Amino acid sequence: MDIKVCKFGGTSMASGNVILSAAKIVESDAQRRYVVVSAPGKRFSGDIKVTDLLYQCSDEVESGDIAAFKETFGKIRVRFTNIEKEIGKPLHIEDGLNEAEQEILNGAGRDYCASRGEFLAAKIMAAVLDVPFVDATEFVRFDENGLLDQNKTFALGAEVLKQYSRAVIPGFYGLGANGKVKTFSRGGGDISGSIVARSVMANLYENWTDVSGFYVCDPRIVNSPKWIPELTYQELRELSYMGANVLHSESIFPVRSAGIPIRICNTFRPEDAGTYIVKNSTRDIRDYVVTGIAGKKDFTSITLEKSLMNAEVGFVEKVLSVIGKRGISFEHLPSGIDTMSLVIDNEYLKGGVLQELIDEFTAAVHPDKVYAHENIALIATVGHGMAKNVGTSARLFKALSEAGINVNMIDQGSSELNIIVGVENKDYADCLKAIYNEFFSE
Ligand code: ASP
Repeated sequence: MDIKVCKFGGTSMASGNVILSAAKIVESDAQRRYVVVSAPGKRFSGDIKVTDLLYQCSDEVESGDIAAFKETFGKIRVRFTNIEKEIGKPLHIEDGLNEAEQEILNGAGRDYCASRGEFLAAKIMAAVLDVPFVDATEFVRFDENGLLDQNKTFALGAEVLKQYSRAVIPGFYGLGANGKVKTFSRGGGDISGSIVARSVMANLYENWTDVSGFYVCDPRIVNSPKWIPELTYQELRELSYMGANVLHSESIFPVRSAGIPIRICNTFRPEDAGTYIVKNSTRDIRDYVVTGIAGKKDFTSITLEKSLMNAEVGFVEKVLSVIGKRGISFEHLPSGIDTMSLVIDNEYLKGGVLQELIDEFTAAVHPDKVYAHENIALIATVGHGMAKNVGTSARLFKALSEAGINVNMIDQGSSELNIIVGVENKDYADCLKAIYNEFFSE
């Protein structure tokens, strides 16, 4: 029998009633044998995710404010006991809550604390479905550098999960190299779902969320954008990295080598087709040029100019070692014969770091000139069709010039899968709209 792994995100686990809907989805298809869950998320706008409350708990314990911790943990208690009431079946969630509270107070650490939302949510889903609970710490392993140890994880995952014909597994965490609970980055439950799919060699990884798949562009910026029926892993990676946040950008790695497709589905509209994410596109390349457009604001480009830079062996290496020593990564590195720019997320440059970097670059490579351009937004136009359709970049830049948008930076991936432009933050929305209208309005 084919195997489907279902991952339910925070909004699909937000209340008892939604959990019951999710359980119905699982029960409607016997192939849905492994279920991965997130912690309860927002029920309405302005609500607080359980994971956010847990991070707050961790901060409060660390700062020694136990009264504040108790109050915040009390809110988590209410969320879970309400879920239990709505489900209308004894789930013994009180015991799990007491244990978690005690462990956090005993200094179990920030990642342990953050992981308890998923742990308790999985206990609930397992009880609702009457299916065994398997803890993610039994097989998800991180290495010394804090990265997922794929080989160990898939081997252990296959070994552990083959003992169960059905199971519910908490997302978002595993075991670090030090033997303690370790979490992925935020939204990492999507990666856990992918790990389980890879471990059991599923035929499909269904990611159940609160939207019916990917849209060509952010619906908050472009009114009712077109829906994307199918994306390749590569296109997904480009779009999700650049801000299309339906799925964690690292979720494709576990399933990619096995070619397991991912389907994005909507728990609140289960009949919708969703978006399929596949290894090779089945779409006719003549039918579309661009697959999707995504972007992020708040970057800075630091430009270094020096005559004969191209002939100076080791120039780039010295520049990169300045940021490397500080643990700063760059997004793009556009370069000319005598110039190079580093495009860096503003997050890294707060508290005077930008000026310090400029000083360190000056000392390391003695440029003729070094300057920063702040408040840049990056917009990626992505699609396999771009390389095959002549004149794509001409259309894109004509659209931007007609919209009066000044482009500060251009970076085209060598696979021609994307064209990234840097514009002023203030032009971000207009830039997305101009590109969308050029390629998608009939
Ligand atoms: N609960 C975690 C978060 O809020 C992980 C997840 O939902 O995937 O980031």
